[in-house]
Amino acid sequence: MSLKRERAVICGAGGFIGGHLVKSLIAQGVDVIRGVDIKPLTEWHQVTNGVENLVLDLQDRDNCLRTATGATSIYQLAADMGGIGFIENHKALCMLSVLINTHMLMAARDKGVERFFYSSSACVYNGDKQNRPDVAALKEADAYPAMPEDGYGWEKLFSERMCRHFEEDFGLQCRVARFHNVYGPFGTWDGGREKAPAAICRKVLDAKHGGKHEIEIWGDGSQTRSFMYIDDCLKGIRMIFESDVHEPLNLGSNELVTVNQLVDMVEDIAGIKLKRSYDLSAPKGVNGRNSDNTLIMAKLGWAPSIRLRDGMEKTYNWIEGEMLAGPAR
Ligand code: NAD
Repeated sequence: MSLKRERAVICGAGGFIGGHLVKSLIAQGVDVIRGVDIKPLTEWHQVTNGVENLVLDLQDRDNCLRTATGATSIYQLAADMGGIGFIENHKALCMLSVLINTHMLMAARDKGVERFFYSSSACVYNGDKQNRPDVAALKEADAYPAMPEDGYGWEKLFSERMCRHFEEDFGLQCRVARFHNVYGPFGTWDGGREKAPAAICRKVLDAKHGGKHEIEIWGDGSQTRSFMYIDDCLKGIRMIFESDVHEPLNLGSNELVTVNQLVDMVEDIAGIKLKRSYDLSAPKGVNGRNSDNTLIMAKLGWAPSIRLRDGMEKTYNWIEGEMLAGPAR
């Protein structure tokens, strides 16, 4: 689809990635006609002027039809989600996002939308392949046989399959990316839905500015993850969207670190050392997870490459600015 004639709708535009995506597509020359989110506009992470910003519940079918009207492309990022603390304790809420995906796919089909981008997740991968911190990086085929993250991961895997069958049966062009832990400025850093990079920045900043040089870490800190900076995510979304790849692709960094190493990094950025305690009863997710980028390299000749340290510095500085500027929490 040529950039010039694309009329894009971003679902979940009030969220972290959706807010960035609106700005990034406009900068690339795409006519972003609409951003939609259930949250009041005052709670959107970023609001872009010149776009029709709608507050709608996309679990509702009529709202999805309204959202899809006039669009050539839909980027479906809306989901009721958060970090591990949220998804382990709100499995039914996570699964109800299936209503958003079902109704948006139906609306895209019925309104003649040409291309549908769906944001899936590394949580679709079989838990048995993520038992060890020194995990083998996950290839796309490792999603089957299916045993994804309970609740959130099952919904994502189901909705991936729905995209596949809407393409096969109704001819709707679908592109699917499996995001691995995205972080960066304008992300959630407080309130219970935040993910590890932002939570660790906040805890280190609390210690630095509060003078109590201690930090509590969820789990024993040996669990491993990779984290993708938002700029890589945005580039990957666009490349996958424009590609002819009809199967889900990993979109993640393969720079693997333990949670303890991530804390080391943020301490170093902050210029302090903290006394660590470990909450072994807190949600900690799988023991290890990394992105195998062989397929995306083969298909697109590109994979995320922004170094974790570089992205974390920007994220830390942004969260510090928010904490110092914001109202009392
Ligand atoms: P986010 O929570 O910041 O954004 C999601 C947005 O969807 C929120 O603003 C929320 O209000 C909105 N939403 C929820 N229910 C809605 C409804 N019924 N109607 C309309 N809007 C609704 O999350 P994000 O980090 O920007 O993630 C975007 C997408 O990427 C999600 O689908 C998420 O599952 C997926 N993903 C994100 C990550 C990550 O690390 N951030 C990793 C894997 C997958």
